[in-house]
Amino acid sequence: MSVPKIFLKPGKEQSLRRYHPWVFSGAILKVDGQAHNGDIVEVVDSNGKYLATGHCSEGSIAVRIFSFNGYDDPAKFWKQKINDAYQLRRQLGFTDNPETNIYRLVHAEGDGMPGMIIDIYGTTAVMQSHSVGMHEQRQIISEALREVYGDKLTAIFDRGAEKVSGKTEESQGGSYLFGSKANEICFEYGSRFKVDWETGQKTGYFIDQRENRKLLGEYSKGKKVLNTFCYTGGFSVHALQSGASLVHSLDSSQKALELATENVALNGFEGASHDVIKADAVEYMKNLKEDYDIIVLDPPAFAKHLSARHKAVQGYIRINEAAIRQIKPGGIIFTFSCSQVIDKKLFHDSVMAAGINARRQMRILHQLHQPADHPISIFHPEGEYLKGLVVQVM
Ligand code: SAH
Repeated sequence: MSVPKIFLKPGKEQSLRRYHPWVFSGAILKVDGQAHNGDIVEVVDSNGKYLATGHCSEGSIAVRIFSFNGYDDPAKFWKQKINDAYQLRRQLGFTDNPETNIYRLVHAEGDGMPGMIIDIYGTTAVMQSHSVGMHEQRQIISEALREVYGDKLTAIFDRGAEKVSGKTEESQGGSYLFGSKANEICFEYGSRFKVDWETGQKTGYFIDQRENRKLLGEYSKGKKVLNTFCYTGGFSVHALQSGASLVHSLDSSQKALELATENVALNGFEGASHDVIKADAVEYMKNLKEDYDIIVLDPPAFAKHLSARHKAVQGYIRINEAAIRQIKPGGIIFTFSCSQVIDKKLFHDSVMAAGINARRQMRILHQLHQPADHPISIFHPEGEYLKGLVVQVM
């Protein structure tokens, strides 16, 4: 198979030799052949020596690498990738676990598949492409999933081109590549969740917070908890399961509050111990109407680009400051940032600045991050996005 060749400028091969999976457009010397968005290309050094194979894309990242060892037999190649991803999740204890059957199978660069996310909800796999190249590979990847999983998979839903830039004219909706919709209840540490993978945010559920929700449970017995930005109510359910006396789930979206209510009920906690609040979290936090022992702050990415970083920091300081000011003495805040451009240090410093403004003593109990089914290639630190702190306010 002859594919276009991308020649790099002398010296620009260094990052690929270190297995960083992106080629920036500024590193390119010349292109031998026609390379369009989504095409498979070979990347070679200035002398024509092979370095890697990837998908061509538009924008500053010109190639996303999926192989440093050639690409001969596509069916075999993608099956190997899916099998490697599966073996890690098996080792982590997710593939035959009745207590937790929601997990991430493929985490883009962390699994050597830039531009592809695959999440597992019980017996359904949900694929979400973030590049044209991976979107075009969806059939072959779907076949690989079926081969690796066998009967353990009854459906594969592809979320379509919703996250693929340059494909906006295409239908936004997803479709089943195999099987059909199952009204299956999924489990996370024994708690029950209904997941809307067809239209929900991300692939329907924020799987990345699993271990942090479990940790919240460990602090919740007999406590009053405010769960802001609650979405499907994951933190709320775990707090209630662990014996919280009162949980308030807050979100600005009515749909999210309905999902949270449904999931709380699914676990048998209707009634006095749970209530929802429809409000803008930033506004609502200015003046809390209850003395909370625990507050969860899990906002959406305040900054998606570097240009928005300063404003995002101000946003983090504002909501953290409001929580720190008002929480009960000895109270605990679970605070998160999922903005990739806000690193661990900057997030820590923002929470510290919030504490300085609120003039309260604070100490860090836990430093949190994304779980092992969201692995980070050590050569691709950009893959680390979720960070959190559990702080006690004196
Ligand atoms: N904590 C959740 C995930 C949060 S997703 C979990 O564990 O699953 C972010 C949520 O914030 C979304 O549901 C979105 O509707 C909500 N949101 C976004 N902006 C908001 C705002 N200004 N005030 C309140 N909720 C907001």
